[in-house]
Amino acid sequence: MTILSAQPLPMSRCSINTATLGHRSPIGEVIERVARHGFGGISPWRRDLEGQDHRLVGKHIRDAGLSLSGYCRGAYFPGASRQAFEANVTDNFRAIDEAAALGAPCFVLVVGSLPEGSKDIAAARAQVAEGLAMLLPHAREAGVGLAVEPLHPMYAGDRSCITSLGEALALCDRLDPSREGGVGVAIDVYHVWWDWRLSEDIAAAGHSGRIMAFHVCDWLVPTNDLLLDRGMTGDGVIDVGSIRREVEQTGYQGFAEVEVFSPRWWSTPEDDVLAACARGFAAI
Ligand code: ZN
Repeated sequence: MTILSAQPLPMSRCSINTATLGHRSPIGEVIERVARHGFGGISPWRRDLEGQDHRLVGKHIRDAGLSLSGYCRGAYFPGASRQAFEANVTDNFRAIDEAAALGAPCFVLVVGSLPEGSKDIAAARAQVAEGLAMLLPHAREAGVGLAVEPLHPMYAGDRSCITSLGEALALCDRLDPSREGGVGVAIDVYHVWWDWRLSEDIAAAGHSGRIMAFHVCDWLVPTNDLLLDRGMTGDGVIDVGSIRREVEQTGYQGFAEVEVFSPRWWSTPEDDVLAACARGFAAI
């Protein structure tokens, strides 16, 4: 692994994914709290904004001095029937419009995998590719990047049939062979840190202009829950600093966004969680 000089990440490039705070408070309070702690960005979830005017929330975010690092997250594409698949795609069309109204640069897609009763992961992958191809012209017109987030293979049965950065990049190249843009990847250290090809895939993602988001947290040993036992950055075994430097070496100047799903942190006061996030960023 290349050794690069480490500059601390400025707080202006640190973003908070609202799931990290456990969706406990109204989005207006979360925006103010994140700004008060000095972070530069925020990435809300759709569930935070139900019933809200996305344009006004976007204005609130900017008025608080924050930028958006993304908007989370897509409906799973695969469906047990054509009708179910199309309903999922329609939901993602709506979410792209919401992201545009917010002013988010990208919409993060966790693509889904086997619909109930299915054992055909190839069919799931085909639906994901078809769904993304349906969305891409609309996303380009809206100015919202489609950020495909490959998930750790332990989620291949339900949450994501796309399980490595290399696979996500191959999908991007199929959808956008001439590299016009509009489709790229969200690189989350939790999902990709184990991959022996990670360095070359990060380089390839950067050089093809595909890195739309960079998510940080940590992998705890032992991990006691497949979904809800993520560690705060610095508390686990991922060399997040080295991955960050490899991402930046490609020219990426965007946000690092902390995304932790953990009942332990969700039962910690929100200000303490944000202080821990800041310490985590300082350590990478
Ligand atoms: Zn993520």
